[in-house]
Amino acid sequence: TTNTQVRGRFAPSPSGPLHFGSLFAALGSYLHAKSQNGLWFVRIEDIDTTRVQKQAREQILEALTAFGFVWDCDKQTESQLRISDQNCLTQTQRINRYQECFEYLEAQHLLYGCECTRKEIKALGGSYNGQCKNKQLDLQTHPVRIKQVNPLHSYTDLHFGLQEAPEGLSTEDYLIKRRDGLFSYQLAVVVDDIDQGITHVVRGSDIMPLTARQLTLYQQFGMTPPEFFHLPVISGQVGHKLSKQNHATPIDMKNPKPELVKALELLGLPITECSEIERKSCAKILDWAIKTVDFSRLPKGQEILI
Ligand code: GLU
Repeated sequence: TTNTQVRGRFAPSPSGPLHFGSLFAALGSYLHAKSQNGLWFVRIEDIDTTRVQKQAREQILEALTAFGFVWDCDKQTESQLRISDQNCLTQTQRINRYQECFEYLEAQHLLYGCECTRKEIKALGGSYNGQCKNKQLDLQTHPVRIKQVNPLHSYTDLHFGLQEAPEGLSTEDYLIKRRDGLFSYQLAVVVDDIDQGITHVVRGSDIMPLTARQLTLYQQFGMTPPEFFHLPVISGQVGHKLSKQNHATPIDMKNPKPELVKALELLGLPITECSEIERKSCAKILDWAIKTVDFSRLPKGQEILI
């Protein structure tokens, strides 16, 4: 069967509660999917367990609910993907699937073990030069890199247009399995987007530089990639996007409307045209936004200062 329905997702890492920048990204992907009658999934990207905060998963889902979001569950793929609680795909429940995909890449002779220390790589100028490629190091006991035989150098973003990938990033044989044995974000996110049949990746432009790498990985899996639509990031100061690592203020679940309205405004929605906004619930405001959103009004800069 051909699936022509738009499928989007919001993929927070549970490394802290949602802040205004994550709300903006969630809204962008939600309105993008829902304004096209699409499905919208929430995925918990906890692959990097070293950064997971215990309460964050619950906080994130609670906050999304308080702000009026409803996420979909795809019955067809649900059992296959082992989506368990709260209808969210959770990366740590899919390690076997990543292992399978890792073995596929290995069978394509695309992987090799690396014995270089962080210090040595830093001395190379920060970008890895492939010096372990022919050493035949054991993949079980070493960090594992993927060969960039045919890297992509540019791609067309649905919002920002033609993007050149930073040279070091697209040609580097980057880590697919880390020193601590964890699969890399690159592997998990691409496998998840493939398995969930995502047609449009709508997310913050902070990840835009990694997109060419991800597109190359789709090629290495022999899969058609989704479209990418990057959103401006929200910053408190020039060059400092709000982030969980920088402990940006969590969004206020007890009083969601002001932040929701502000985020919609920054997305270019004519919020003054939303009638009886004082009396509307967040869910009702979102319904209005789905009908009203026009992505051509989204700011063209990569950063929005608040
Ligand atoms: N998990 C990533 C983050 O929280 C987002 C990844 C993505 O949207 O592709 O920054």
